[in-house]
Amino acid sequence: MRWLILSDIHANLEALKAVLAEAARDGFDKIACCGDVVGYGADPNACTEWVRSSVPYIVRGNHDKAGSGLDDLEWFNPAARNSAFWTQQTLTPENLAYLRAMPKGPLEIGGFQIVHGSPLDEDEYLLSASEASQLIGYLETRVSFFGHTHLQGGFQFHRSKVIELNPVELDQDRLELTLHPDCHYLINPGSVGQPRDGDPRAAWSIYVPEERLVIYRRTPYDIPAAQEKIKAAGLPTMLAHRLAVGH
Ligand code: ZN
Repeated sequence: MRWLILSDIHANLEALKAVLAEAARDGFDKIACCGDVVGYGADPNACTEWVRSSVPYIVRGNHDKAGSGLDDLEWFNPAARNSAFWTQQTLTPENLAYLRAMPKGPLEIGGFQIVHGSPLDEDEYLLSASEASQLIGYLETRVSFFGHTHLQGGFQFHRSKVIELNPVELDQDRLELTLHPDCHYLINPGSVGQPRDGDPRAAWSIYVPEERLVIYRRTPYDIPAAQEKIKAAGLPTMLAHRLAVGH
């Protein structure tokens, strides 16, 4: 079974289309998504409709809550708050209802689980090995996929030792990771629609449980087209600019 693992699409249809085209060339069987379908980008309806029709396994992200009115936006910065209000006003009633009903993680899927932030708190940011080390003893499955930080990579746990996993190099488009049977893993596939690890290419992963294999991927997409849509929608221009630098 080849799982296509996505996270943090953020209403970026250009990035999503490029990832799906490349993933189709690689081949996959099923899709799981770690949340944040909407927020920041200009195509919340198209991205939500694709998720509704194609993604059977998904957990909600903080922007899915904010964009569908489930969050009071108190902790959001001005650009994120602006885009959350715009998203609420732009979504169709059917897509709003879908986002409001998205399940809270963790969601276990036959031997692995997906979460948005961390297995203990859907809104927590796992940015460093020291933060991840707080989770020792709480990982119910050997492999968990998470998002929220928009940083491809994640963490390997071996007894009390936590090692940070690297993203794909800038001059490569894939990086294979063979999972050690004695270790636990928190794997971040990276963000499809708004990478923040200094690589503006869309990030995603393939997971093959039978081979204990994770393949991190990066795929270029039409960034100027996504930027133009953000500007045309009247969303904050910094949301367009950051796509080009991957921060
Ligand atoms: Zn996000």
